[in-house]
Amino acid sequence: MTFEAVLAQARAEGRTLLNEVEAKQLLRDAGVPVTNTTLATSREEAQAQAEAAGYPVVLKVVSPDIAHKSDAGGVKLNLKSKDEVGAAHDAILESCLKHVPGARITGVAVQHMAPQGTEVIVGMTTDPQFGPVMMFGLGGIMVEVLKDVSFRLVPLEEKDATQMIDEIKGRPILAGVRGQPPADIGALKTAILKVAEFVEKHPEVKELDLNPVFAYPDGAIAVDARIVVAEA
Ligand code: ADP
Ligand code: MG
Repeated sequence: MTFEAVLAQARAEGRTLLNEVEAKQLLRDAGVPVTNTTLATSREEAQAQAEAAGYPVVLKVVSPDIAHKSDAGGVKLNLKSKDEVGAAHDAILESCLKHVPGARITGVAVQHMAPQGTEVIVGMTTDPQFGPVMMFGLGGIMVEVLKDVSFRLVPLEEKDATQMIDEIKGRPILAGVRGQPPADIGALKTAILKVAEFVEKHPEVKELDLNPVFAYPDGAIAVDARIVVAEA
């Protein structure tokens, strides 16, 4: 689907939040590496998609009423068989409906389980005065507790992406420390620049989060994606 088609569908449903499947499809088309993710609307469909994706897989709730999927018990990692996928599907629905009574459940997202990498975040927020601003930081507590992030106004030049990465206090972690492998800085730069290009091209996008992106010695991939668009 094109950006316009996804936007039209979200607006027809009164949503400003694009779901993970929609967000990843648009980002993949824009050249941002993401885990291939499909939407299953039944237990059987989830199992068939898991077989096609190849084990291990991850299942996640897709719901316009659930922003933080893990908090609602809506993420199941490392599923290794059809039976595990079926059980995870049922457990996700039960837990999410318990956490958010009456939540509308679109289905579950099925994707390959990516190997663990160094977690980073690539995001965009809209400043009321300056417009779209790109954000980069290390994942987990580094961003949540220490607010170790860097910002740049869109549009970005290549050197801006380099500086964003170099500016964070946790930069040495990306070079590899204490037996942790180094991160592919070139791949992170490309991801930042491709996201910046995407938001520049689509002014309807008001917020975007890739949280987390797994960075590897060779390459990087976003395992979660969220896009908020402007109201019609
Ligand atoms: P949310 O942020 O809504 O709670 P996420 O999609 O970020 O949900 O999933 C929670 C965590 O699960 C991620 O931070 C990541 O560590 C892990 N995870 C999610 N998707 C994958 C995947 N495809 N492969 C490996 N790990 C994943
Ligand atoms: Mg996330």
